[in-house]
Amino acid sequence: MKLLNPNKPDYSFLDEKSRNLMLKTIEYFENRGKSKLLDDDHNKVWYSEFLEFQKKEKAFSILMTPKGYGESDSRWDSTRIMEFNNLLGFYGLAYWYTWQVSMLGLSPIWISKNETLKKRTAKLLEDGEIFAFGLSEKEHGADLIGSDMMLTKNPDGSYTANGDKFYIGNGNKAAIVSTFGKLKTDRREEFVFFAVDSRHKNYNLVQNIVTSQNYVAEFQVKDYPITEEDILSVGREAWDTSLSTIAFCKVNLGWGSIGICEHAFYESITHASKRRLFNQYVTEFTQVKQLFMDAYCRLIAMKHFAYRANDYMRTASDKDKRYLLFNPMVKMKVTTQGQDVVGHLWDIIAAKGLNKDQYFEMAIRDIQMLPKLEGTVHVNMVLVLRFMKNFFFDKDISLPKIPMSREAKDDTYLFNQGATTKGFDKIKFHDYEEVYKEFANLPNVKTFIEQTKSFKDFLEFAYPDNSQREDIDFMLTIGEMFTLVAYGMLVLENAKLDKEDMDVVNLIFDVFVRDFTKYASIVYSKASVHETQQKHLLGIFKKSTPNKEKFDKVYNDYILSLAGVYEMKA
Ligand SMILES: Cc1cc2nc3c(=O)[nH]c(=O)nc-3n(C[C@H](O)[C@H](O)[C@H](O)COP(=O)(O)OP(=O)(O)OC[C@H]3O[C@@H](n4cnc5c(N)ncnc54)[C@H](O)[C@@H]3O)c2cc1C
Repeated sequence: MKLLNPNKPDYSFLDEKSRNLMLKTIEYFENRGKSKLLDDDHNKVWYSEFLEFQKKEKAFSILMTPKGYGESDSRWDSTRIMEFNNLLGFYGLAYWYTWQVSMLGLSPIWISKNETLKKRTAKLLEDGEIFAFGLSEKEHGADLIGSDMMLTKNPDGSYTANGDKFYIGNGNKAAIVSTFGKLKTDRREEFVFFAVDSRHKNYNLVQNIVTSQNYVAEFQVKDYPITEEDILSVGREAWDTSLSTIAFCKVNLGWGSIGICEHAFYESITHASKRRLFNQYVTEFTQVKQLFMDAYCRLIAMKHFAYRANDYMRTASDKDKRYLLFNPMVKMKVTTQGQDVVGHLWDIIAAKGLNKDQYFEMAIRDIQMLPKLEGTVHVNMVLVLRFMKNFFFDKDISLPKIPMSREAKDDTYLFNQGATTKGFDKIKFHDYEEVYKEFANLPNVKTFIEQTKSFKDFLEFAYPDNSQREDIDFMLTIGEMFTLVAYGMLVLENAKLDKEDMDVVNLIFDVFVRDFTKYASIVYSKASVHETQQKHLLGIFKKSTPNKEKFDKVYNDYILSLAGVYEMKA
């Protein structure tokens, strides 16, 4: 697995149109240059130039119009969508954000049955417009049930919207804000998604809540007239729409994080490799070597996992919903790993990381944002814990082996997912033990397998009791251990498909063995832990197997060799 290198981009697996779009995007950012990129960030300049670029190249229209709408070759192709995510994160999270919230805004429209609005949306995309997702409210955070945006049905069959929304990206310019609320009729209240135009006179833009290039809006609608043509979905459908949208858009966060880490990595290795202190290069200090190694391994694992999760998402069906575990992990695990990567790199380059002429300074700030969006890490962990029992104890070996899925195709299923929060107990997984077994010759994978066995025993013979299960703090670390096993599984699957160097894989698991031990020690010292639980947790306490020769080889061949490979044009 390679890091994205804008000097030598490899999009050979994409069709010509998609490849050209990626290359033009690189060209756009490189020609504008680093000083302009950073100046705009420091001065919090709204990214109208980038939006002009995307309009000219029809970037959002190409990437976010599904088959059957817009151009004859339209398709919602998650592979090229991920690559674009990666690129935008690489050049700055602000550019990524306007695209991400456009996608969030578009998805309830593509999920809906409102054909008139879908056709209008395809046209708006062609015209270069942006979109917004009006879900969050100031008072309610993650608690969507409490939403109090109100749509009232009038006697003539039309509707009137009243209420306010908070934290709505692109809320200043969006051609359509897909807005979530409640529909009030004589008889009842039910959920509803409807479309509003941010330029309508009854749409009141109150403020930008953040101080950045982004516009994250508070807006109010007052007696805003809505017709049947603006309604996207009602009742259970509206509820499912909000969750289905997040279920697939949340992977973008992981890719944004990968892009940030890649750019930060180039800056760090180039700086450290040139800096000489106490008669040696910084890259020769042993702690720096370890930090670079950990940062590199975490980053490569992030990419392997995110690519593989994409395969599961693209091949999903009503019979195979494994992506409902893997997608939240791209969101929470990949983005928190990204925090670790930037943290390690910052420990290396120290003061340089805060220089205003460095992308790194933005990376430090932006990498923190991703775990907080589209549901916090906690909310996602609570969600995926529901899969833990089936993952370990009720596997389905008849599930198909998913091939690498990078081909040009329309991922229609994403708009037909149905209820993404029901029937979790019926979702099964293939056998993780089979996947690990193939790599058991690698010393650190072997140790990880032993740790996994002890964790499974912990779950089987010392499962958290009722009060521990109700204690989210306790369960979050259990969740870290569970997701580490699922994470490692997909990393291995992709490493095989991608023909990764096994020395790199072994070093990735060096990191994972230490992480597993760390999580076990956190649970071990919890106030409510029982003695039997501690006994099983001790089985997880392991050390990784060192191999200096291989460590040095990977360090030289994969890490030091990145020094000077890429620097953004001034
Ligand atoms: C820069 C930015 C851009 C955003 N853009 C958009 C946008 O375009 N559209 C949009 O609709 N929203 C947007 N949001 C809102 C974002 O998605 C919310 O931050 C998110 O939904 C969480 O809400 P909250 O931050 O208010 O946290 P809260 O929901 O208030 O949560 C507070 C704490 O409680 C915890 N918690 C909540 N529920 C549970 C639970 N069930 N179990 C355990 N712990 C729980 C959380 O983990 C958190 O630590 C944006 C936010 C920011 C900061």
